Amino acid sequence: MIVQPTPENILEAGDRLRSGGLVAFPTETVYGLGADATSNDAVARIFSVKRRPDFNPLIIHVSDIESAMSLAQLSDSAKKIASAFWPGPISIVAKKTVDSPISLLASAGLNTVAIRVPAHEITQALLRATARPVAAPSANLSGKISPTDALHVQESLGAAAEFIIDAGRCAVGLESTVLDCTRDIPTILRPGGVTTEQIEKVVGRIDIPNSHSVLPKSPGMLESHYAPDAVLRLNATSVFAGEALLAFGKGLPNNPDLTKNLSPKANLEQAAGNLFAMLRELDVLATRIAVMPVPNEGLGRAINDRLRRASAPQM
Ligand code: AMP
Ligand code: MG
Repeated sequence: MIVQPTPENILEAGDRLRSGGLVAFPTETVYGLGADATSNDAVARIFSVKRRPDFNPLIIHVSDIESAMSLAQLSDSAKKIASAFWPGPISIVAKKTVDSPISLLASAGLNTVAIRVPAHEITQALLRATARPVAAPSANLSGKISPTDALHVQESLGAAAEFIIDAGRCAVGLESTVLDCTRDIPTILRPGGVTTEQIEKVVGRIDIPNSHSVLPKSPGMLESHYAPDAVLRLNATSVFAGEALLAFGKGLPNNPDLTKNLSPKANLEQAAGNLFAMLRELDVLATRIAVMPVPNEGLGRAINDRLRRASAPQM
């Protein structure tokens, strides 16, 4: 059921979460599928609905830094990151507090936890109404394209998405950056809505491991992820017969019928906001998608990360 974000519906969503139900809700990054993070049963439902492998921990959403600090021990660099970017599209991995109430399943048995304070006003209202930490991955089947619209959630999860709060299109359109702050040098586990350049301005140099060289500490690090059914061909400068085109900027190869342009003006924010929705649209129309190159800077890193995983062979 898709509902509008009225005060009554937000209160109902909070009640549903507190009694162990699932609620799909908008954030500035993508739509999330939330559960009470302190309840093993509720969290187990997320894994089952998404068909998500249970070694993949979930991000825990809270309304403010104080709540985050009751769940995790934020290092000095974590505190700097939190005060610079929260509320916003970055998740901080930190050591759990000794008496952490978070379900072990939510953090996949790790002694660390990923926490985020989202900025979207509806997410904030929902978190306040729930008054519990909310575990929420993206509201789609595991490995598939993340939803940036309430309808995407319904298409992906069907009847299992019992209560979907609709607040239109997500502004950022890419998942949060996941930053591991448990190490001496903060390490990017998943590039996302806050760019490497922005983070380095606050804490100095950070580590950006090559995802091929590290074990998947994050599902965002699994090779095939964010995947459409269509086969993607990256860095295309021409279009082959039968291909649709996901374009960026000007100078399109000629393919007027099946072209979506991420950003005709080559703006990376706009491209990030369009990426998942346009992949979904082209996926319905074609079995092969050529993708024009996107510059690997700023949000372009996260865009290229998602495109690379969307093009990886599926298991
Ligand atoms: P998703 O829920 O699909 O947005 O993905 C959440 C991301 O956060 C995944 O890449 C997780 O592996 C990562 N994550 C969550 N908790 C932790 C943790 N304790 N340590 C490392 N990564 C984590
Ligand atoms: Mg996801």
